[in-house]
Amino acid sequence: MKIICIGRNYVNHAKEMNASVPSSPIFFMKPDTALLRDGNDFYHPDFSNDIHYECELVVKINKVGKNIQEKFARKYYNQISLGLDFTARDLQSKCKENSHPWEIAKSFDCSAAISNEFIDINNFSDEIIFDLAKNGEVVQIGNSADMIFSIDALIAYISKFITLKVGDLIYTGTPAGVGSVKIGDKLRGTLEGRTMFEFEIK
Ligand code: ZN
Repeated sequence: MKIICIGRNYVNHAKEMNASVPSSPIFFMKPDTALLRDGNDFYHPDFSNDIHYECELVVKINKVGKNIQEKFARKYYNQISLGLDFTARDLQSKCKENSHPWEIAKSFDCSAAISNEFIDINNFSDEIIFDLAKNGEVVQIGNSADMIFSIDALIAYISKFITLKVGDLIYTGTPAGVGSVKIGDKLRGTLEGRTMFEFEIK
């Protein structure tokens, strides 16, 4: 399986990063070794002094597809979950300055935290609300209706370039409120009021 992540899919996050709002989706990938399942702790890597959380809705692909038309994209997924796209922001800034790829900042081991639970998409309306609390205080609130590119639009765009396979995960971008973590922090993600994961930074 592969992990595809979307950059800048919420206007308020693009603004907080002083980045432009993209005219087509921006995506990058993480390897399967990046997955960190709930119940495991996140060990702060020593190559970064500024690891950020990014809480994101995650879509699981359930059908192989290439060149998927947006109007048929809904047939390629039926479950959604919540995850964290951990980012070494200091390394990412250097990569951006040098116009280098982002992998060292985005694709390291355990950088794709994910709930163990995936929920049938039919349980949700068009507005899927989620939030992240750090040490009990809500730091990010997201609403899928605020995505610049919808899940269906993302699937259409990605599948122009890359065949999607059963089990692939798409991290759909983060809303505003990203910030750094330090050892001892606890991160709890909630989807429509339901706790989806709890990670401790060690
Ligand atoms: Zn992200």
